[in-house]
Amino acid sequence: MLLGRMMTQPLSIGSLIDHAARWHGATEIVSALTEGGFERVTWGAVADNARRIASALIRRGIEPGDRIGTVAWNNRRHLELYFGVPGAGMVCHTINPRLTPEQLVYIVNHASDRMLFVEKTFVPLIVAVRDRLTSVRGIVLMGPRDDDAATALPGLLFHDELLAEGDPAFEWPPVEETAPSGLCYTSGTTGNPKGVLYSHRSTILHALFANQPDGLAVSAADSIMPVVPMFHVNAWGLPHMAAAAGARLVMPGPRLDGESLARLIDAERVTMAAGVPTIWMGLLAALDAGVATAATLRRTIVGGSALPPSMRAAFRDRYGVELVHAWGMTETSPLGTVNAPLAKHLDLPAEDQDRIRNGQGRPPFGVELRIVDAEGHVLPPDGQTEGELQIRGHWIVDSYFGQEKPALTWDGWFDTGDIATLDADGFMVIRDRSKDIIKSGGEWISTVDLENIAISHPKVANAAAIAARHPKWDERPVICAVRRPQADLTEAELLAHYAGKVPRWQIPDRVIFLDTLPMGPTGKIVKARLREQHGDVLWDEALAALASEQAGQGMGRAQD
Ligand code: ADP
Repeated sequence: MLLGRMMTQPLSIGSLIDHAARWHGATEIVSALTEGGFERVTWGAVADNARRIASALIRRGIEPGDRIGTVAWNNRRHLELYFGVPGAGMVCHTINPRLTPEQLVYIVNHASDRMLFVEKTFVPLIVAVRDRLTSVRGIVLMGPRDDDAATALPGLLFHDELLAEGDPAFEWPPVEETAPSGLCYTSGTTGNPKGVLYSHRSTILHALFANQPDGLAVSAADSIMPVVPMFHVNAWGLPHMAAAAGARLVMPGPRLDGESLARLIDAERVTMAAGVPTIWMGLLAALDAGVATAATLRRTIVGGSALPPSMRAAFRDRYGVELVHAWGMTETSPLGTVNAPLAKHLDLPAEDQDRIRNGQGRPPFGVELRIVDAEGHVLPPDGQTEGELQIRGHWIVDSYFGQEKPALTWDGWFDTGDIATLDADGFMVIRDRSKDIIKSGGEWISTVDLENIAISHPKVANAAAIAARHPKWDERPVICAVRRPQADLTEAELLAHYAGKVPRWQIPDRVIFLDTLPMGPTGKIVKARLREQHGDVLWDEALAALASEQAGQGMGRAQD
């Protein structure tokens, strides 16, 4: 007997841009240009150009599976590469331009990039390292012909000339859905950066499953401003989600300061945005200063580091903007959790709802979470027990680029390096990164909690909690804080702000006021540098106190 069958079509990025062009071809893509001003194109034009670029690359001998690097901000040319490169069966390797030249050389050579597409701003960076890029056969300037750039980089090609020589009627070659489509390296905060090779299948499943009503909820009626860079984990999948949904995109280009973003939101009637908390701190300050009203903005997805609850409240109460907390990593495409309430939460008192909404949320269908102890035993999802967070699913890394051995535990889970709690409904709360955690007298203190309290002080612009070495307790918390402009906050005042909010023994031992906090290439505070610079601040004093305590005179502070 012949059984029935359903169609099987490969999940492919070529088919995704075809959909956007066919049904949302007139929907606008707005790009803030690096040189100033704006450019408006449509999904239809992006799709045509993606085909042109793909055919031009094939004509130039680029082959399926070859890696094509991009060093660029968020704009429509980058979008053309996002779809055209994998559409043609090649791998779009997005490179973070804020890396050090050494890291850039390492990554390009490790990925064996055949070609590099570079925005004009980054030409000097490429000129400086050109001789050390061993695999690169061609460099393309993302713009029209430019004689200065051509002189600086002999043999330079031009994006717009490739478009002109390309074929807008080019047909996407068949691809296996498991074939690689994109490559992104982790920022290498622990050792050399590692490459995560996304597939057509993982990218499409991520775009569909993470974009449900309880996920990012991108719709055709939205104007989306991805502030998260396209060089960082596929701009959290927003370009793919926008193409699938037919949403309008407002690409902010290089100017990511609060004032520029605030003006862009009003001018382009942005309804939804996404980025790391530091970006939204800048936006909040600009809105508070009256630069713009953000009247059209309804939702903002915040992740990459913990969303301070005080910031969520400020956006909601002052501007009617809901900050949706999400969690993920380069290895998880990135979305692992998004925060959306359950029906039973809707009638809870406001403060209970807030507590739930301040966490990192719950996993969409397609990924699973668990927490384990140091020996790998699974811990109960009781909302209390802290453990190492592990994840598995359709868009989670299996092995890193160029590495034979899987990046997984013996039973097939990816260890995130985050410490979290998980409750019975799947709501997850990140307590720390395992390498940042403070261990005082054998007990963990969450840096996230300490930072949230500091940031909720009206005179604090930003803060980071670090572990300082201590002769008695091993480590004690120290806060590195940046005061708001003109604020005259003292250490005692900030420490008093902790009273009643955490157990007494968790109150930081010291506040160090700094002009700025060191920021990494993806807008996260580089705690390793703060630890290097300030990790010994308690040592001498604590040693002297310990000596006098041992001499029988008692010690000033006890861990109670
Ligand atoms: P890197 O590991 O180089 O910082 P990623 O962007 O992949 O680059 O960072 C992933 C990490 O960022 C997570 O493991 C987690 O520690 C942190 N992170 C991401 N989102 C959140 C969030 N909402 N709250 C707290 N930490 C987060």
